Amino acid sequence: MHDPEALRSLHLSRFKAEPEIFAAPGRVNLIGEHTDYAEGFVMPAAIDFATLAAISPRTDGKIVIYSENFREEHIVEAAALPTEATQHWSDYPLGVIAILAGEGHRTTGFSLSLYGDVPLGSGLSSSAAIEVATALAVTSLLNVHYPGPQLARLCQRSENEFVRSSCGIMDQFISVNGEANHALLLDCRDLSFRLAPIPANVALVIANTMVKHSVAGGEYTSRRAEVEEAASVIARHRHEVRFLRDANVDDLKKWGSEMSPNALKRARHVITENSRTVAAADALIHHDLKELGRLMAEAHESYSKDFEASCAEADTMVMLANKLPGLIGARLTGGGFGGCTINLVEQEQAPKFAEALAGSYADATGIKPQIHICHASSGAHKVTASLSH
Ligand code: ADP
Ligand code: MG
Repeated sequence: MHDPEALRSLHLSRFKAEPEIFAAPGRVNLIGEHTDYAEGFVMPAAIDFATLAAISPRTDGKIVIYSENFREEHIVEAAALPTEATQHWSDYPLGVIAILAGEGHRTTGFSLSLYGDVPLGSGLSSSAAIEVATALAVTSLLNVHYPGPQLARLCQRSENEFVRSSCGIMDQFISVNGEANHALLLDCRDLSFRLAPIPANVALVIANTMVKHSVAGGEYTSRRAEVEEAASVIARHRHEVRFLRDANVDDLKKWGSEMSPNALKRARHVITENSRTVAAADALIHHDLKELGRLMAEAHESYSKDFEASCAEADTMVMLANKLPGLIGARLTGGGFGGCTINLVEQEQAPKFAEALAGSYADATGIKPQIHICHASSGAHKVTASLSH
């Protein structure tokens, strides 16, 4: 587990300076897949895996960044920040530092120690966690305060413009604004959001299929093009429609024949997924876990059959989960073609559920999965309470 006291002693012995420490969590999306770029809804929760950033000022004009995950130090001159990525882990913190500098918030140098227990590259957004932790640490050093949504936007810009990875706003937004025991229904159109309570006796069991099919990149591009094709067909008839967020299933009945068969299927997923995501938040608000489970099952079916973004391993993981006691709902989460499934499970049953799912998935596929039992956690914050100064 991410232990602030351990990071503090590491920072103290490496840099001989008392740090301030900040934490930013990873996340899992409960429902709302490929709805973000249609200006629709997503419903993630922050999880109890996080990245910690310990920061202290320096007087030699250098920015020294150490990652305990990589056991490696990276040094740049504060007055000569890099302008592009080098395909190294330091791109993530340096991107945030460079974007902040571009906003007029330059530093004269600091030491930054990083450590995270969000599994790297597993779809739980260790990238957003390291960006947000860095942003909080550096803005605090400079005594600058950004409201949550703006801080998230800044970190997203860093990932888009510096790291050059095309992510939406969801990951950074939930890492900044998550609440313990809540999911967050985010409207990707205007970044307004609503919290939806997750009962204390419900665990978020995240099951990594351990596969990521290499088609993912190309397929992502073609899915986006198909979604845009469907929106533009509807827009010819209803001018107020700019994105599929503005469309409904009636539009598909009326004008679906003018679309390619694939565009029609993709649009059906996005339009119904938007409604399901809002309905899922309502189900949580009304403590209706049965309805939530039904919506998650429908979402997986739609993602697999209409959006065709699942894969054999993920379908197997979901099918096996559905047979186990304690399951409330299961579906593939994230961009698709592999990655993790999210399982809402009764807390009491969660350890047995995880063990049984790992066993049956290994039997069915020959692959040993990684399974994490998580809980909805709070968003990024300064860590003080547990530290004895
Ligand atoms: P995900 O966000 O799903 O975990 P990404 O590929 O978007 O996967 O981001 C993972 C990358 O972020 C890592 O390969 C590494 O470069 C960087 N990263 C994340 N956490 C840390 C950390 N604690 N220390 C150094 N680099 C990190
Ligand atoms: Mg990422």
